[in-house]
Amino acid sequence: MDRREAVLRELNLYPVWVRRTAHVAEVAQVVEPHAKADVSTASVSTTSVEQVGESAQSPSHVVKENKVEQQPSEVSVELSWPELKQKVRDCTDCKLRAGCIQTVFGVGDEKADWLFVGEGPGADEDVQGEPFVGKAGQLLNNMLLAIKLKRGSNVYIANIIKCRPPANRAPEADEVASCLPYLQKQIALIQPKVIVAMGKTAATALLGKNATLASFRGTLHDYQGTPLIVTYHPAYLLRSPSEKAKAWQDLCLATETIKKL
Ligand code: URA
Repeated sequence: MDRREAVLRELNLYPVWVRRTAHVAEVAQVVEPHAKADVSTASVSTTSVEQVGESAQSPSHVVKENKVEQQPSEVSVELSWPELKQKVRDCTDCKLRAGCIQTVFGVGDEKADWLFVGEGPGADEDVQGEPFVGKAGQLLNNMLLAIKLKRGSNVYIANIIKCRPPANRAPEADEVASCLPYLQKQIALIQPKVIVAMGKTAATALLGKNATLASFRGTLHDYQGTPLIVTYHPAYLLRSPSEKAKAWQDLCLATETIKKL
């Protein structure tokens, strides 16, 4: 058994997971080709989100996002990586910083084609200062391996919020609103070819609209000209391993999308 087969077995994906290229081909055409943005003019803005409940539905269709009204960001578009990192380190804009050990900026290849976005740091990430280093991170590493990616190589991993919420609660709308401009600036600097939003917090924040995770899935979304795919959060997959097959479909949609660019 080779390494990839072992990983797929670990994910409960082998040998039953099959790429659905026909569906992907159909939906991929609808999204405009990704063009690398000019960082100096990239728009970095703030949106606010609300939490909504889950649903069992999983439609497969393509949508262009309804644009929500966006507020100008206080994060300057001229910031370089070092300046942005320092700004995040120094940030006390919301109540989360007082209750965590350190900010967790993001990690990986700063010119990556792939950007994976989670919700926010947990206890392990708060200690180590790096996203997805706990159990959910191990599963994320295996998900990456399953699509022949490796953490740190052509992949960047970040979160919507940079500070661990107390007792790992979900981030509140004001916390997301104040932290999101940092991620938006990271995206403008990375210029990824595809964004994978893991979980509802990431999806609602990046897409600027509320919906169930099930209704976000199976659709090629658009984040300021970059294709965005929504999948389950690895922590949810640890609790609900039977959903891993759907996550595999989402990853296949992402890989087929990037191949077509
Ligand atoms: N969950 C997240 O959303 N992000 C992390 O970095 C770790 C767990």
